[in-house]
Amino acid sequence: MTWINSFANLGPDFSTEVQPTPVPAPSWVAQNHDLLATCDLPPHWLSTAEALSVFSGNGLWDGMAPSASVYSGHQFGHWAGQLGDGRALSLGEYASAMGNFEIQLKGAGKTPFSRMGDGRAVLRSSIREYLCSEAMAGLGIPTTRALCLTASPLQVIREEVETAAVVTRLAPSFIRFGHFEHFANQASQNGALKKLADFTLAHHFVGQAESLGNPYADLLLEVSLNTAQLVAQWQAVSFCHGVMNTDNMSILGLTLDYGPFQFIDGFNPQHICNHSDHQGRYAYDKQPQIAYWNLFCLGQALMPLIGEQELAMKALEPYKAAFTSHWTRNFSMKLGLSQLHIDEMPTQMGLIQDLLQLMAAEKTDFTLFWRLISHAAPKTNQADAAWQTVKDMFIDTGQFKQWQNRYMAQLQSQADQAAVANMLAVNPKYVLRNHLVELAIQKSKKGDHSEVDTLFQLLKSPFDEQPAFDHYSELPPAWASDIEISCSS
Ligand code: AMP
Ligand code: MG
Repeated sequence: MTWINSFANLGPDFSTEVQPTPVPAPSWVAQNHDLLATCDLPPHWLSTAEALSVFSGNGLWDGMAPSASVYSGHQFGHWAGQLGDGRALSLGEYASAMGNFEIQLKGAGKTPFSRMGDGRAVLRSSIREYLCSEAMAGLGIPTTRALCLTASPLQVIREEVETAAVVTRLAPSFIRFGHFEHFANQASQNGALKKLADFTLAHHFVGQAESLGNPYADLLLEVSLNTAQLVAQWQAVSFCHGVMNTDNMSILGLTLDYGPFQFIDGFNPQHICNHSDHQGRYAYDKQPQIAYWNLFCLGQALMPLIGEQELAMKALEPYKAAFTSHWTRNFSMKLGLSQLHIDEMPTQMGLIQDLLQLMAAEKTDFTLFWRLISHAAPKTNQADAAWQTVKDMFIDTGQFKQWQNRYMAQLQSQADQAAVANMLAVNPKYVLRNHLVELAIQKSKKGDHSEVDTLFQLLKSPFDEQPAFDHYSELPPAWASDIEISCSS
């Protein structure tokens, strides 16, 4: 087992050596021993003073080759030019028995790509990234992972003075759409674009999709399909990413760069979780089309390698059918409806869409509704208490009853009762609601990290009942809707 640093070895066109900048008096906030074990990383990584030093940017282990990579991207629909790892810094790529993992420190100081930034991350946003990475993993949604979180009293200036933290995150690769856009925009560097694409194909692609006869079109097709699956999973748990710029889009279809994300409380399809997103570009219901727009940017970047426009479109267009199919499947499963014959699809789609409309009209709590209906669906008697609880979520009970009649008829017409039993395994009881993470942040700011740990433990198994934590599944308090999360982190 060793450090292989394959991305860094691509050369200076792609990344620049850079040392982490030390912080004063580092301390542990959270350590993800489960991930350490799952990835078969050395046990001492989370248990020694030396480890604390490394994961706060104050030291290195032999074999690490810290570097920052360059990328560009479209931000809020506009070409932003060069961006790059301004505060993320790769320690290298570690080869373990479970695969290769690039290990990044986020917030370990300035890099050549920091532009006007300080290269730091504050404790608040780092707790959000740490917890949400692991909450997403618990939900079975592809994501970069978080290995640990360290803090320092070092002051960091945002809207107010805050303190610094470093998240150690890992993924098979942190290559973004923006990496390709970067090299495509430098005509003289077409060699680099090809090198990057060849590297990605060789190291990170399995080639599951049917071949289009051009490896770069195949790459684009696979990214399109993975992204479709990812966004359909986001929609199914009401996850809003908040900043779907092309530089925050993972080439592997992972959820990447947790900023102003949110799981919706009262359902509003037009919900905007990023206080800085004045146009609502990244609203919940825009996410599927924005992902396609981003894929289109990636396609444009790959054009010098793909050659024909038509071929690029062949790689992009399957996104639409794939997204619709994943979305329908996910929401059907949420309703305990098994995959039906194609003839029944319109009925099923209608049921899902009418329900979402009803929920939107009443701002029904998204997570709570799906969990409660998971308990009610197996009860064939509409007067059952479990059904009453669901009905109580609606003011317009007449509308709901109409929908419920159609739904129950549909349920009864299906042979597969296992899908109903499975509802509790697809509709989480617990998600990282904004107010929950906010409470953990407030405690941690005072030096008590116990709530970070509680949420971490809870969200590892979001589908389990965990009765001692019932109150974490309840409706959010009134103040939750006043929380404003911006890009500032
Ligand atoms: P984000 O909106 O977090 O995805 O960041 C967009 C770009 O700004 C990326 O290139 C980041 O590395 C960079 N960036 C964000 N915050 C900072 C910071 N505090 N210091 C340096 N670079 C930053
Ligand atoms: Mg980013």
